[in-house]
Amino acid sequence: MSAARRACPPGALGGLRALALGAALALAAPAAGGEYRGPIVDAHSHVPNSTAIDAYVAAMQRHDVVRVVLLGVGGAQKDDPAWLAAAARKYPDRVVAGLPLPDPARPDAAARLDAALARAKARVVGEVHVRQASRKIDRDPSDPAFVKILTVAASHGAPVVIHMDLDARAAAALERALRAEPTAIVVLAHAGGAAPAVIEGLLARHANLRVDLSGMHFARAPALATEAGPLDAAWKGLIETRPDRFLIGIDVWAARLFEPKMLDRLMGWTRRILGELRPEIAERVAWKNAAALYRLE
Ligand SMILES: [Zn+2]
Repeated sequence: MSAARRACPPGALGGLRALALGAALALAAPAAGGEYRGPIVDAHSHVPNSTAIDAYVAAMQRHDVVRVVLLGVGGAQKDDPAWLAAAARKYPDRVVAGLPLPDPARPDAAARLDAALARAKARVVGEVHVRQASRKIDRDPSDPAFVKILTVAASHGAPVVIHMDLDARAAAALERALRAEPTAIVVLAHAGGAAPAVIEGLLARHANLRVDLSGMHFARAPALATEAGPLDAAWKGLIETRPDRFLIGIDVWAARLFEPKMLDRLMGWTRRILGELRPEIAERVAWKNAAALYRLE
């Protein structure tokens, strides 16, 4: 159907007036489509200490970020469980604490996870570092011990957020893991640092894969957009093709990012790029997908 016919349906009264109004609105709106104005769930962030959450929640209030899912940083901070729990206690309406899994290679990792999930009733496990070149971590998620972790998480209804820098070999291993445990939902953080075409194939082949777009902001690479530039066309196309599979997140971690000005820039940028998506898709990526996946009420 052409745009003209959508704007002026047969039999509608005042079709011409509607067209004129549409043109006026189009002129009034910024070229990029305007800012997304609905709520945002930050589906993936961290804290570097026990106090940074205060600045983060203050920024959330300024920018209508209604929830933040706080995750562990894969064993790099031994106090993650305590910091996450304390943040969720202090801000129960804003903070959802994930269950860190600092050492998935432990022989008893799956059994410990089972007990921890039964105790904590966490809605999400992670962030689990499967492959991170900068920390020389390189694990095979299709290894039976890791598949057991996926099985345990699935039995508790908890998706597993993984950090996995993808190359061809790693992507093949991820696909084996997704096939080995189709009941587990795996959330690939930062889109695995991969190109949209790679992610498109993975999403097409594996219904149990989700992608979080956290940490793909202007200060990092790969980025969805520069600080003032448009949303990358290939990412935009893929998100609009598979709107149920993507979650937005900010992925703050380093203490310097908790400066109010920096948080304003990151949250403002997030809202701006969401505004480049069609409105019904923007709200899915902004909060609806995360709310469904992580059972946020
Ligand atoms: Zn992260």
